[in-house]
Amino acid sequence: MAGLDRTIRLPDGEAVPQFGLGTWRMGEARAKAAAELAALTAGLDRGVRAIDTAEMYGEGGAEEIAGQALAGRRDGIFVVSKVYPHNASRKGVAEACARSLKRLKTDRIDLYLLHWRGNHPLAETVAGFEALKKAGHIRHWGVSNFDTADMDDLIDAGGTACAANQVLYNLGRRSLETGLLAWCRKRRIPIMAYSPLEQGRLPKSPALAKIASANGATPAQIMLAWAARFPDVMVIPKATNPAHLAENIAAMDIALSDSDLAALDAGFPAPKRETPLDML
Ligand code: NAP
Repeated sequence: MAGLDRTIRLPDGEAVPQFGLGTWRMGEARAKAAAELAALTAGLDRGVRAIDTAEMYGEGGAEEIAGQALAGRRDGIFVVSKVYPHNASRKGVAEACARSLKRLKTDRIDLYLLHWRGNHPLAETVAGFEALKKAGHIRHWGVSNFDTADMDDLIDAGGTACAANQVLYNLGRRSLETGLLAWCRKRRIPIMAYSPLEQGRLPKSPALAKIASANGATPAQIMLAWAARFPDVMVIPKATNPAHLAENIAAMDIALSDSDLAALDAGFPAPKRETPLDML
């Protein structure tokens, strides 16, 4: 498969798009809303089939914009949203999910994530997620910013149905390769790589520039192609600028060669010892 047809598999075997549209920082300023909606709409028009959002982004504003972009085309789009840790009690997740559904103007969220670990017992959050799943309000649930010890605790808390872990992963942030990636692979839990472009602060690296030029691509495209080199890693870059969006979509057509990957490894080595997960 190539381009936007590329998929990853959830633990139950469902294939979901490997590329999605990020929405952090959207919905924060009224003056930018039209451009943000235009970017999400353009992404869907071009064939992107996943959107990542959260109740936190713009305090609901990003979900509202995503809801507008999804109007009339909800089917076939994989919608991911996240609950704040302080809302992740059994009752709290139900209430937060209802608010998110309203803003997204949909009757279901495809993947609902605990945004990061908070103070509510994981067993309560899991019970809340399972109840939402049973009621059909969400189709899958997962976590975000969970390191290996958190994942162990999640399993101990009954969270064996976790469908994904969304974490910081890009060329310069490879700590997940020292433990978490292997942990997730054992259980077939895919990774969603957030900030795959380091929030636009692209590394100034001769190795990256050289490989970009050899592939007729930009450094950002190489970063995305690199993160998406694994068939169990989804990438969710955020782009409001139409040129960025077009570039990011085209990156899914780039297949890096073994020698490209070796050169990137040399320029951006993964930590040698087990290292705590990078977080923003
Ligand atoms: P990102 O996708 O790494 O970077 C976004 C920034 O890069 C924006 O400033 C964007 O500018 C710029 N950009 C986009 N495409 C570019 C390109 N081709 N060339 C140069 N610059 C480019 O950062 P992110 O938004 O933090 O992460 C992506 C998504 O992951 C988020 O939007 C959110 O959905 C999710 N996320 C989740 C968590 C979590 O805790 N679970 C944390 C962070 C992010 P323009 O907008 O001007 O185009």
